Amino acid sequence: MSITVVGTVAFDAIQTPFGRVDRCIGGSATYFSVAASFFASVNLVSVIGDDFSDDDASVFKGRKINLDGLQRIKGAKSFFWSGEYGYDLNVAKTRDTQLNVLAEFQPKLNEAQRTADVLFLANAQPDLQMDVLKQCKRPRVVALDTMNYWINTAKESLTRLFREVDLILINEAEVRQYTQEPNLVKGARQILSLGADTLVIKRGEYGVLMITKDAIFAAPAYPLENVFDPTGAGDTFAGGFLGYLASRSEIHDRELRRAIVFGSVLASFTVEKFSLDRLREITLSDVLERYQDFRALTHFDDPEPMSS
Ligand code: AMP
Repeated sequence: MSITVVGTVAFDAIQTPFGRVDRCIGGSATYFSVAASFFASVNLVSVIGDDFSDDDASVFKGRKINLDGLQRIKGAKSFFWSGEYGYDLNVAKTRDTQLNVLAEFQPKLNEAQRTADVLFLANAQPDLQMDVLKQCKRPRVVALDTMNYWINTAKESLTRLFREVDLILINEAEVRQYTQEPNLVKGARQILSLGADTLVIKRGEYGVLMITKDAIFAAPAYPLENVFDPTGAGDTFAGGFLGYLASRSEIHDRELRRAIVFGSVLASFTVEKFSLDRLREITLSDVLERYQDFRALTHFDDPEPMSS
């Protein structure tokens, strides 16, 4: 099954306690596409400036990623984000966001993009996300990610979207920010009451909490000893999670739990180096090997992943 993702392809500047980089490839749709393409075909819909070279775009090469929807605007600059982390790597401090080409971006999806089975509305301006959703022919799963920046600047648009999607990926602080509710479970219920079936709350190094109308599943993060740069962990998680789901003929509770673990495994590679440097090095067999390690370490009861 195929996935359409709409989000950012960007340049990032990042500072962590372990190093800094002034310009590297980033963007919500970039991390997502590369991670999801381990399991399923991805239609990438985004926009870049002509500062994003063919060499930069080689991050997508040799993978099941269709770039028909990656528009390049002449004489314009790509989306730019600059962020910083202290020793608490769960908290990203945004230093600068330059929308550049994203400010005017109004994607028009082609037939293949509109009819994909899974639609991922990666972190982007909520009105743009809604416009994309309206163009699609009811995908089997519509999932959405967002961030504090949009909760601050476009909360009403975001609420309209929350009513229309099946699955919301959001981090812990954003649940509290959006709901103004200190208790996470209450906050989650408040968001689910708007319409989605499933809320996946990302909790950085503490892992992920999946809350549905009648179940809760918690998975720890893969216990890495050397986390270098957490940028992209959320989008990589989303890519592994939805990529795995798109590769399944049926989506039931057990598959959702496996998908959470695959998402966590993919994200654990991303945080080992800057940008997509680590993700680009690995193969599906590295992913499957770490999945088995994860199972053994956490006693996650799943004897036969990917056997059906
Ligand atoms: P995360 O997976 O949450 O760490 O997301 C990291 C990526 O999100 C970075 O590579 C940024 O380029 C991108 N990003 C940062 N701010 C925004 C924004 N406001 N809208 C869309 N993408 C963003």
